[in-house]
Amino acid sequence: MKAPGKNAVTLDAQLGNNRNFDLPVRFLDNWLRTRLFRGRPVRPVILSYFVTFRCNLKCSFCDYTDPVFRSRYPEVSTECAVRLLEIARQGIPSLAISGGEPLLRDDIVEILRAARHFGYKPIALFTNSLLLEEREEVLDYVDFLQISLDTVEEHCPEPDNGHRGVAAKVKENVRRYARMQKQKRFRINVNCVLSEDHLDDALGVLEFAESQNVRFTVAPRLIRESPAPELVGDKSYQALVDTIVARKRRSPAVMDTFAYLRHIRSFLPFKCYPWLTPRVYPNGRLMYPCPVLNYSEYDILQMGPWEALEDIILTTHGPEVRCERQCFLPCYLEASTVHSHMLSSAVELRRLIKEVGK
Ligand code: SF4
Ligand code: SF4
Repeated sequence: MKAPGKNAVTLDAQLGNNRNFDLPVRFLDNWLRTRLFRGRPVRPVILSYFVTFRCNLKCSFCDYTDPVFRSRYPEVSTECAVRLLEIARQGIPSLAISGGEPLLRDDIVEILRAARHFGYKPIALFTNSLLLEEREEVLDYVDFLQISLDTVEEHCPEPDNGHRGVAAKVKENVRRYARMQKQKRFRINVNCVLSEDHLDDALGVLEFAESQNVRFTVAPRLIRESPAPELVGDKSYQALVDTIVARKRRSPAVMDTFAYLRHIRSFLPFKCYPWLTPRVYPNGRLMYPCPVLNYSEYDILQMGPWEALEDIILTTHGPEVRCERQCFLPCYLEASTVHSHMLSSAVELRRLIKEVGK
């Protein structure tokens, strides 16, 4: 399938293709399904599409830097990526594009333009920002730009060790693109991985986010999807999360929900609903129910309409995933805790509707 051209997107906008409410409505529908009609499966809220496992950084905590990942999951062509998005949109209202570093794909603008054309809302792009200047057109098609920033410390003795050596450039990018948020109608959040060796840096990142009028999110450092052992029960780590929670009460910058922060503070068990955020890898295969359990992989391009795929999954695996593994992959944890704590997350959902303005 040919990717839709720029004019098609403009026409959509002119016709008032306003899907701001699809995501909150899907959350509400899911809540009713599990509260009032027990046994009904939840339906997906966000497609998590990892478009590449290539990256121009090498963060110490990141599994994707392993070359095995790249050879095991080669990228599908532009045409297939666009077709995949078209199929998934039949059942999923919103989209997060991540990687690897998505901006390494030469066709990333085309992919995001197609996503906008198909009506995903909101669209988030996760990036380290280093290639943003070369691919600035992506800003026309995203609602949220998540930029990784683990420290504001610019002088790092290990320049190749992930974001620490590139903080100055990332900060410069955040400053530059923060100024475009209003005009281009997107929001930036800087995402900080909380690691035991630089816990103190997180508050610096939060202050930087506040100073630039961008949002702030956190994730604990994971090792093979489980919390780094040094963080579990660590008093300094807990005190840091407590401080972030306190800051959230008076600052709009902190974007994570209270429920999510409560869970990552003490690594509290949670009921996981992995089907809320189906994850597709660069080779176009859906990892069901998540890459950790990986019961089955489905080639979306071979499965026909999305409804058929959902039927097969329901028939093969049943309506619910029971998981004792309790990994803390943020996208699953965040969506699951919003679903389980709808009332306390209502503020964030309302803010989401307001901020998604394109
Ligand atoms: S920038 Fe992201 S994908 Fe790249 S190595 Fe770091 S954590 Fe991994
Ligand atoms: S907790 Fe982790 S392993 Fe278990 S279903 Fe959720 S994402 Fe998968």
